[in-house]
Amino acid sequence: MSVNVRIVLVNTTHPGNIGGVARAMKNMKFESLYLVAPKKFPHANADARAAGATDLLESAVVHDTLEEAIADCHLVVGTSARGRHIPWPVVDPRELASIVSPIDEEKKIAVVFGREDRGLTNEELHLCHYHVHIPSNESFSSLNLAAAVQVITYELRMSSLYSDQNEEHKPQWGTNWDIDMASSADLERLFDHMEQTLVDIDFLDPENPRQLMPRLRRLYLRSFPDKVEVSVLRGILTATQKQLKKS
Ligand code: SAH
Repeated sequence: MSVNVRIVLVNTTHPGNIGGVARAMKNMKFESLYLVAPKKFPHANADARAAGATDLLESAVVHDTLEEAIADCHLVVGTSARGRHIPWPVVDPRELASIVSPIDEEKKIAVVFGREDRGLTNEELHLCHYHVHIPSNESFSSLNLAAAVQVITYELRMSSLYSDQNEEHKPQWGTNWDIDMASSADLERLFDHMEQTLVDIDFLDPENPRQLMPRLRRLYLRSFPDKVEVSVLRGILTATQKQLKKS
């Protein structure tokens, strides 16, 4: 089981929910809690709901943006209570566990949870390799934040307890891959560079970008590029921009 799973909470409104998440995580033996711009933290209500898990609150890492909170991660998974405009690869918590469990321990994994009132934005979901949806009641689909964290960390723990069964799901970029996986920060630099180049060559109209970048993100994220592949792609973009300046 990869011990490198961090739980990331984006823009949480109620500090009590942050405490509830800490408790849910510690119950399932997870300890890495990242908070992106929490509305109120630290807070007495967080401590109260954490019960005996205040150590997770004390060691919580706070960032201003989601990009910073996941910059060093190799696999980023976003949670969603409902379907979105552009479909992304969606898994349920058990499938997620079978993907995560065989990944080697040095790879860093983030599972990202959204705001109580409106979840994650499309831009935030487009930073992710997979989306995970808990198959709840279609007409009442949204779980309390801490309850959602409980369901997902429970499945991750169950899978770690029976991890031998997951060998078949070992990712092809696992231990035997020759090059390190690209991190989220590497990929974001690639996407920024790609977007700029596509504007430079008049392929992308910044006034009317439509869904071009989300579609390209989905394509590249599906293929889990490694660091060399990302630098080859960026080399092609740099060469394209150079040629353009010459002409
Ligand atoms: N009303 C919001 C849901 C917010 S619930 C919306 O429509 O998106 C708060 C968070 O709990 C979500 O962002 C997600 O991280 C998690 N969550 C709640 N229900 C979920 C479900 N069925 N599947 C996956 N995550 C869920």
